Amino acid sequence: MAEEVKRVFGIESFTDLQSETIKYLLGGQDVFLSIRTGGGKSLTYQAFPMFCQAEPCQVLIISPLLSIMKEQVSYLNSLGLCADYIHKECDRTSIETGKTTYVFTSPEAILTDDMWRSILIESTSFKLFVVDEAHMVINWGEGSGKDEPFREWFGRIGEVRSLISCPALVITATASRSSRRKLRKKLALVNYHDIVESPDRENIKLFVNKVKVNEKISFTFSWLISMVMDQAIDCPRHIIFCPSIKLCAEVYCAFKVCLNEYISYIEMFHSCTTDQVKEEIREDMDKEDGHIRVLIATSAAGMGVNYKNVNNVIHYGPPKDLDGFMQQLGRAGRDGTQSYELLFYSSRHLRKLDIDMLDYVKNIEMCRRKKLLESYNSVPSADLVKHLCCDVCDKQCDCNEENCKSFKHMYFIHKSEIDIESSSESSEDYSSDTSKNLSESESD
Ligand SMILES: [Zn+2]
Ligand SMILES: [Zn+2]
Repeated sequence: MAEEVKRVFGIESFTDLQSETIKYLLGGQDVFLSIRTGGGKSLTYQAFPMFCQAEPCQVLIISPLLSIMKEQVSYLNSLGLCADYIHKECDRTSIETGKTTYVFTSPEAILTDDMWRSILIESTSFKLFVVDEAHMVINWGEGSGKDEPFREWFGRIGEVRSLISCPALVITATASRSSRRKLRKKLALVNYHDIVESPDRENIKLFVNKVKVNEKISFTFSWLISMVMDQAIDCPRHIIFCPSIKLCAEVYCAFKVCLNEYISYIEMFHSCTTDQVKEEIREDMDKEDGHIRVLIATSAAGMGVNYKNVNNVIHYGPPKDLDGFMQQLGRAGRDGTQSYELLFYSSRHLRKLDIDMLDYVKNIEMCRRKKLLESYNSVPSADLVKHLCCDVCDKQCDCNEENCKSFKHMYFIHKSEIDIESSSESSEDYSSDTSKNLSESESD
């Protein structure tokens, strides 16, 4: 490994994934790198010029947000490296002559400006084309163009690439098979290497539970409502993810009706939440002992935030794709402690799901972890104990350890208690009602 890299970036060595990536790029091949956040993805393109024989060697990086570009530029500058992003006041000559090693930009900055277009076409010193946070290409390049039309440019990244001829490095957070396929198509990657980090989070036990279409939300969550009332500030922290703002509001209302003054332990976070409230929630969730015990949220709550002490993630309705699901369940157990992911769904939640997500939800026989990882060309570790893996494996566990049965989810414990109560006190309206709800299995 080049001494310069060690010195400049202050690292001892590359990870295997990093070395492999750089090796293929130097060999002139495209690389599709799926790596978890915090896995050192940026270092692969930052170190590239130090291994590249060509002089000058420039790197063009497509980045989804101006704030990320600015942050990267000032980081690289602080290491004594020459970096800039394309904007009105940037040093054009320095970029044109190859002095600026790292050039950050967005597709529209290039494609709407004939000058930059021709600079790129005429340049021969760009040796690497990078698309950072490429999963945003899918989310931004397609779909709701009405809300944010400028993001349609991300659908035209392939066009930018065609202006310079050099290998491409496409970096994404964990991406499922179907999203990888879509991305590669969009970016016209043909002869590429797929480098995928195992996305498994072994300390999260996986559960899936189907509920009846008309099952009341307050019933589905009665176990959590009781927990908040009994334990108040000591209630373990939960995040409930909902696929829409509407569902988010419905879940919040169900808690509100049951909880009265305890509602202060519950918060709601979605794209229409005011900035001030969002900030307050982020601050609270960043404290180990924050006041919020249950956060009911859409995917808007996920972006770039590391919530503390969350050991239970619940999905009330699956997100539309598996990547979103992986990112959201990954909120649990960041500190490495045993954590739980429980997905509730009813048949009305199954519309509009992508095929991988639907496959995961409908699976009832196969190990859920195995099913999940299949979509990422990965497999669970052979060492994982069955009673810690998922609800399917749990049933088959014959480890005979004393604590084998102690990793049940509160939802199922509560449910079996209600079942027992209702069979002995069938005169009570509430319990007989609920036992009916629980015992009737729903048909599709
Ligand atoms: Zn399993
Ligand atoms: Zn066991």
